[in-house]
Amino acid sequence: MSEKTGRAVFFDGELRVIERPQPTPASDEALIRLRLGGICNTDLELMAGYKGFRGVLGHEFVGDVVAGPAEWVGQRVVGAINVACGSCDMCRRGVPEHCRNRSVLGIYNYDGAFADVFRLASRNLLRVPPSVPDEQAVFTEPLAAACRIVEDVHIHPTDRVVVIGAGKLGMLIAQVLKLTGADLSVIVRHERQEALLTAWGIRAVRRQDVPNGLADVVVEVTGNPAGFADALEIVRPRGTVVLKSTYHGLPQADLTRVVVEEIHLVGSRCGPFEAALRLLEQGLVDVQPLIEARYPLAEAKAAFEHAARRGVLKVLLAP
Ligand SMILES: [Zn+2]
Ligand SMILES: [Zn+2]
Repeated sequence: MSEKTGRAVFFDGELRVIERPQPTPASDEALIRLRLGGICNTDLELMAGYKGFRGVLGHEFVGDVVAGPAEWVGQRVVGAINVACGSCDMCRRGVPEHCRNRSVLGIYNYDGAFADVFRLASRNLLRVPPSVPDEQAVFTEPLAAACRIVEDVHIHPTDRVVVIGAGKLGMLIAQVLKLTGADLSVIVRHERQEALLTAWGIRAVRRQDVPNGLADVVVEVTGNPAGFADALEIVRPRGTVVLKSTYHGLPQADLTRVVVEEIHLVGSRCGPFEAALRLLEQGLVDVQPLIEARYPLAEAKAAFEHAARRGVLKVLLAP
């Protein structure tokens, strides 16, 4: 008996490309052929020990449905990463991304998308508009995460907003927040980040040029525990700090300041895919300059090494 196999990027303390039997989708799942995957900081953190992850990596993808529910077969799709049970109290509250029994594509208890073919719950899928090329659609997941900020925090056009960190996610957040009309600054460390932001009409600044205690909203997206302490210094009393970094250490920061100055802390993770696809379709967010390199799936190891280098933006994987 011959069994269909496919390659997958597997991590169990060490990263390697394995050949595995083609996954069999359950009745509520689709089988998806990868067109393009994006390496995210979360992938790098999983490899650094976050959540003790072991399995197939990858949650940023665009692909074609090759098997599963008839209405999906043949569609070019992206997919929300939280696979929810649909029946727990959080699901019934309408927040499936906080399902008590969730698994998360390529992050927790669910094999990821860096594979020739992989499965995902079909209710998580969204069709990609024909005018959005793969190289843009692959940014839907992180762009949705950027949109989450304006879902959770009311940013007034008169607000002074500071984004700390101009990496892959920070660059998307900056472009989304620019659309609010707020007085936006992004703290950068490299000239290259500065040049990109300036080209989009966004003010790039260095940390030492940002006054403390004045910003209405600070978005912390450095991925570095020190960024949290910086955010608390920059925000004004009764201002809001939005946390977008998942740290694999425990950040040290002056939490007494949070109490005394009544600072609002907002944790922010996954966001609305529909909105992200709309931004891409309407050309309101520019992702092309964020693409650093593109590797074949077979060279995933080299791709991850590249993505982990300092100051490197998005590295893509293609079968
Ligand atoms: Zn991601
Ligand atoms: Zn649930």
